[in-house]
Amino acid sequence: MKGYGNFINGKDDFEGKEYQIRSPIDGSIITTGIMGGPEQTRRAIDVAYDAFPKWEKFTLSSRRKILEKLVEIFEERSEEYAVLESRNTGKTMRQSTFMDVNIAAQHIRYFSQTKVFKEKRKIIHPEFPGSYGIVENVPMGVIGAISPWNVPLLMAIWKIVPAILAGNTVVLKPSHYTPLTTFELARDFTKAGLPDGVLNVVNGEGHVVGKELAQSTKIRGLSFTGSTRTGKEVSRNASGTIKKVVMELGGKSPNIVMGDADIEKAAKGIMFGIFLHSGQLCESGSRLMVHKSVKEKLLSTLSGYMEKMRPGNPMDMETDISAITTEDQKRKIEGMVGKAFSEGARADYRKKVKGSVPEGGYYVDPMIMTGISEDMEISREEVFGPVLAVTEFNSEREALDMANNSEYGLAAGIWSEDYRKALRFAGNLKAGTVWINDYHLISAAAPRGGFKNSGIGRELGAEGIYEFTESRHIFVSDKENDLLEMSFGLVNSGD
Ligand code: NAD
Repeated sequence: MKGYGNFINGKDDFEGKEYQIRSPIDGSIITTGIMGGPEQTRRAIDVAYDAFPKWEKFTLSSRRKILEKLVEIFEERSEEYAVLESRNTGKTMRQSTFMDVNIAAQHIRYFSQTKVFKEKRKIIHPEFPGSYGIVENVPMGVIGAISPWNVPLLMAIWKIVPAILAGNTVVLKPSHYTPLTTFELARDFTKAGLPDGVLNVVNGEGHVVGKELAQSTKIRGLSFTGSTRTGKEVSRNASGTIKKVVMELGGKSPNIVMGDADIEKAAKGIMFGIFLHSGQLCESGSRLMVHKSVKEKLLSTLSGYMEKMRPGNPMDMETDISAITTEDQKRKIEGMVGKAFSEGARADYRKKVKGSVPEGGYYVDPMIMTGISEDMEISREEVFGPVLAVTEFNSEREALDMANNSEYGLAAGIWSEDYRKALRFAGNLKAGTVWINDYHLISAAAPRGGFKNSGIGRELGAEGIYEFTESRHIFVSDKENDLLEMSFGLVNSGD
């Protein structure tokens, strides 16, 4: 079995410590990877640094052509990508196929075609009529990128594709638990014609490879996705240098069911919001807030749907419940659930998975918890697991206060048949994405990111490309005018 080396200067690099990459589905060995060290990371940064001057001269349309070719290659291999993503992360094959890989292709295509990014635009200077300005958005240089283990393929695409479209070169560190589809993507980029050195992938531990990226003075921009705690550490490490830092961090997103909601639809959306990938998604709707008048009906509808959920082998297209990606994460979820029980919470409904899931894998029973108060850890902190914490409200005002009473502000869902009311409510939520009668759907055209401790800056959309650029303003004085005379006269009045 030939495993995965690090991808530096267009080639696999096998220098470093080999380790086994196992599937959380059943503990089986999938392949081997290499833990990158500081020297290898610095080499990758140097390669990206040296590749930049040539790459930034490629025209926007030639960069787009490489992305178009990448989509072709990617789509031909979509099933392989889905299998690898599921085996490595434990998410169900249905999710990998219809969401992650399907959306990945659409997002690469979007960036290959979008015209929202302008390399230059002309502006007028209202104060100086005899002049005009050109604002150029130019690449920054080397972008360092750090991605988490839960959605590795999409996260890699959201960082790499806009960064190279804008003319930057990249060194990306995936999570060492789930690096496989990122390596496949890097290889496919080369097949699509990306010059060697423009994209480099160094696998390894955060406090080694990630730290090196944060501290490097050759890296001009850093795009990090992970937990808020690690985000703070990354900021501290980057603070000895001057670089732009974009952070996509954790969340504790409310899913709010109004008294006038369509309960069947809301119940399906709430299940989707919390149980997709067993709750291991940053925007998971982990706080269910329901109007008192419909609480009982909603909970009984939810438990009916949970009854029908199918645990099984996640590689089977019929299975609904994903594995937990790492053993540490499983322990963390169980610890938080245990603490919630000791504080008085109850599992109103719990779907038992034991006996139906493969031996040797990591699984947690999906559950709906009641008896929750706002100050409990389970309703304040990210569990990153299949645990829905239920609270109730009596008025819109109360719902809004509860929803915004969080250190996080990543996303929220609103379920209501009154769209005007829902839109008004959405406008008062401190969250980067709000879904009305929907959840989890992410468009490449829309900026995505968090308020408060959920992040800084945005990914996707026009914003997600501009984040990877510097703006240069060229001031052109092309006409004689009185203001010019007057301003020069400020230091030269004796003429
Ligand atoms: P994590 O913070 O443990 O790790 C994220 C990445 O940072 C990994 O590649 C890790 O190796 C690296 N890292 C760890 N320590 C580091 C250090 N000191 N310096 C530099 N890099 C370091 O997060 P995770 O457990 O992999 O992922 C789950 C978290 O990611 C959750 O909190 C989730 O909400 C968040 N997330 C956010 C988004 C978003 O878009 N906002 C998307 C997905 C996941």
